[in-house]
Amino acid sequence: MIFSIACLLLLLFSGCCLGEDYGYEGNHGPSHWGDSYNTCIGKHQSPINIEEHNVKNISLPSLKLVGIDNPCSSFVTNNGHTVVLKTNDSKAATLYGGPLGNNIYVFEQLHFHWGENDREGSEDLINNHSFPMEMHAVFYKEDYKSMDEALKHHDGLTVLAYLYEVNPKPNPVYESIIEVLPDVEAVGKEKTLKEPLLLERLLVPDITTMQNYFTYNGSLTTPPCLEIVTWIDFKTHQQLSHEQLAAFRDLRTPEGNKLTHNFRPVQPLEDRIVFHNIPKEQNEVLKNDNDPSHEHSGQHSIKMPCSIIALGILFAVVLFAM
Ligand SMILES: [Zn+2]
Repeated sequence: MIFSIACLLLLLFSGCCLGEDYGYEGNHGPSHWGDSYNTCIGKHQSPINIEEHNVKNISLPSLKLVGIDNPCSSFVTNNGHTVVLKTNDSKAATLYGGPLGNNIYVFEQLHFHWGENDREGSEDLINNHSFPMEMHAVFYKEDYKSMDEALKHHDGLTVLAYLYEVNPKPNPVYESIIEVLPDVEAVGKEKTLKEPLLLERLLVPDITTMQNYFTYNGSLTTPPCLEIVTWIDFKTHQQLSHEQLAAFRDLRTPEGNKLTHNFRPVQPLEDRIVFHNIPKEQNEVLKNDNDPSHEHSGQHSIKMPCSIIALGILFAVVLFAM
């Protein structure tokens, strides 16, 4: 009797901790996720390989991040699969615009994916090229009020993805996170950053390139792999030194081994289109470059007479004043 109750409790416990029994090695590795999570064998899974010659160029309204310019108390946690950063800020940062339109998404957490060495580690690939690290900033749709509720809807989440390359110099922006990694080596450990974090420095490292990104519809890259994510992958790469990257590989798995890698292999694109957002002004230049006939039509022909008329009016005013 006691044994059956214990089994029942164990079953209930394992049931409530969905997604906690996966890993990146052996029987728990990505090729087995589908055995326990049917949703991991869907047709619109992430990550993917983005072939730049196979994207559709578009010019979307500006992507806007709000409430990221105040330093806020933050903490990191080792959840056994990655290191997660959350803020204690009661007023969370929000995101809208771009592929999200007027829908507002609320910042939930950010985390990292990495590889065994500096030649691999990113989840999405660009032209089959892997990067040593990828950061995901996860936002849930404000309408759904919470992350848990958002997970039940096809447009529940959006993730900003940042790709990294190796630089001889350490990147000071990441130092406050990297210095506490030794304190969260064991699974379940949590550590508050020594200084309040300015989210802006992580999420908008370069305002001029923020509108240059790939976007597509996909899934969570970890079980239960729900297909509810609008992915926004920035084209500009961030920089980290070899030592900074290596610090992440010392974190431990639930079994006590080193978490040397935590990226899912790419999944088939199937019938999806990957869009490449090009800021409007830049797109105009590109169109003009590609289309020689453009010079003789449309905006250019309108602008010329306008400037001549303006000059004429100015000349008349000067003459009248004399
Ligand atoms: Zn992720």
